[in-house]
Amino acid sequence: MTVYLVGAGPGDADLVTVRGARRIAEADVIVHDRLVERSVLELARRDAEFIDVGKEPGRFTSQSMINDLLVSLGRRFDTVVRLKGGDPFVFGRGGEEMMALRDAGVASEVVPGVTSAFAGPLAAGIPVTHRGLSRGVTVVTGHVEGHDDGYFRRLANPDLSLVVLMGVSARASIASQLIEGGLSSDTPVCVIESAWTPRESVTRAVLRDLGSLNVSSPAIIVIGACAALSVRELMAETSSLV
Ligand code: SAH
Repeated sequence: MTVYLVGAGPGDADLVTVRGARRIAEADVIVHDRLVERSVLELARRDAEFIDVGKEPGRFTSQSMINDLLVSLGRRFDTVVRLKGGDPFVFGRGGEEMMALRDAGVASEVVPGVTSAFAGPLAAGIPVTHRGLSRGVTVVTGHVEGHDDGYFRRLANPDLSLVVLMGVSARASIASQLIEGGLSSDTPVCVIESAWTPRESVTRAVLRDLGSLNVSSPAIIVIGACAALSVRELMAETSSLV
């Protein structure tokens, strides 16, 4: 009778919040995305039902079908968990699903998750707001519907870190727009693929080379002075202080 929108965190099951893990363990049904790791699904009851609504490229499951599914499951079962990678409200369409449930009179609750927008850079040892290097961070999607609208030109700002989700396929265009917008082509870039999973991989470069990097989705792209930092560098910095 309640649908819980639970953030699964970026990967490993021990990065799910305690509340999220409890809801997963109680669920009669779990409706999950492709990005959710198997180890997170294993937090569920053995007799729970799993429904994969992952939107693989080429395999179309419309958002309205997912909304309808959640409404009907919410009416049939006590505890439904809608499990989403990262945080349910960061590019997860969680808000739309909650509205659909509200309109249908089905109770819902949201459980925050650790978003890949911040945990991704952290996996590479990048503090996205490192004092003196960055005054803030802009989190954007690299996915544009239809034609390329040149949006990234307006995001060129050397004082901010830029974190791009869903940006792998548009990476060449993102880089050239940022350079056209005035960002130096030497700006550090880091791409973190499948952060916090056994498949994690970190690639470092500069902006002019972003387009030709051999990287694949899911990945976080960090652009800005902070992207040059790494755990090793942070340790060196700390030890030079002592
Ligand atoms: N709600 C999610 C984001 C969903 S959009 C969150 O808060 O993290 C999907 C995009 O998230 C992917 O294309 C990728 O850019 C990013 N992403 C999610 N998990 C990731 C991971 N473990 N490693 C790298 N990128 C990830």
